[in-house]
Amino acid sequence: MNPRIDIDLDKIKHNAKVLLELCRPFNLSVAAVTKGFCGKPEIAEVLVSAGVKYLADSRLENFVKMKDLPLEKLLLRLPMISQANEVVTYADISLNSELETIKSLNAAAEDICTTHKIILMLDLGDLREGIFDAMELEKVVREIKGLSNIDLIGIGTNLTCYGGVIPNEVNLGQLVETACKIEEILGKKLEIISGGNSSSVYMLMNNKMPKGINHIRLGEAILLGSETAYGEAIPNTHQDAFQLVAEVIELKEKPSVPIGEIGRDAFGNVPTFVDKGTHKRGILAVGKQDIATHPITPVDQQIEILGGSSDHLIVDFTNCDKEYRVGDEVVFNIGYGAMLALMTSEYIHKNYVSAGRFD
Ligand SMILES: *Cc1c(COP(=O)(O)O)cnc(C)c1O
Repeated sequence: MNPRIDIDLDKIKHNAKVLLELCRPFNLSVAAVTKGFCGKPEIAEVLVSAGVKYLADSRLENFVKMKDLPLEKLLLRLPMISQANEVVTYADISLNSELETIKSLNAAAEDICTTHKIILMLDLGDLREGIFDAMELEKVVREIKGLSNIDLIGIGTNLTCYGGVIPNEVNLGQLVETACKIEEILGKKLEIISGGNSSSVYMLMNNKMPKGINHIRLGEAILLGSETAYGEAIPNTHQDAFQLVAEVIELKEKPSVPIGEIGRDAFGNVPTFVDKGTHKRGILAVGKQDIATHPITPVDQQIEILGGSSDHLIVDFTNCDKEYRVGDEVVFNIGYGAMLALMTSEYIHKNYVSAGRFD
């Protein structure tokens, strides 16, 4: 069925195993981040069988989909106070930075006679979530100590998300030091010191992960085999576990410059054109509604993407050795943004491929 996203479960499992092996010498437990594929249980199951320790997502709806999978669920996005009840119901652990929120989680946990685990987020300079001020941190930890239904099990940080700050031995070292101070206040060891996301993977590859970090949250590294500090492919992983397939619905020789007065395109922009003479233009049945403006790359490198609108992608087949025809399929490699958009689009058929090749 087209358009579709081919999801190679064997490649995803292989990538997860490679990442787990990379983490092993550092004794890092791995939370597999499932938000990139909207928590589809078919994929999450594969990550569980590869041996990850937690399933992590930013949206509670995705935990509902994965509720039958046996691992602890870690909520990545800071909880909304208005959702405190749902948070303690569907997530075992949540990342937090606001005392007000933690107090409402405490009340919600008390209501259903449970203890909710939290990880406090520290902002080490990337300026997305986390406590920034050392005095505030100490005060929050002391207050949490007095809450009956909250268990502070760890601290963590998130880098390379907003500010693009790259994790290193200095900022992650600071996280380990802060953990020691918190342990003193609490009078107990912290279970989790969470050293970031896929942007921390290069530190594993270069043997630079500071001692004391014992947890990592990995999405893109597993799904697309890419570390996100420098955008490098991780050795021995697949970058094409997710591919977009779209069908040719028109293929004609046409000029490369529109004829008539040029106004605005479907999105209100005034387009410009390079005259390449008459060429072989194809229209594919997929559009910005499905992939937004995220980059995608044709696997056949002789295809050039010319543009598109909500439901159409226009490509140039002129330089292709292959004779494309109406009804043919064109395959694209995709990055994280396109993967997220395609997995979210209800118009894209999700095609799970598995042959058990790498077991
Ligand atoms: C999305 C997210 C991650 C995973 O990021 P990747 O770059 O895909 O590994 C980790 N931690 C938090 C808090 C997140 O929101």
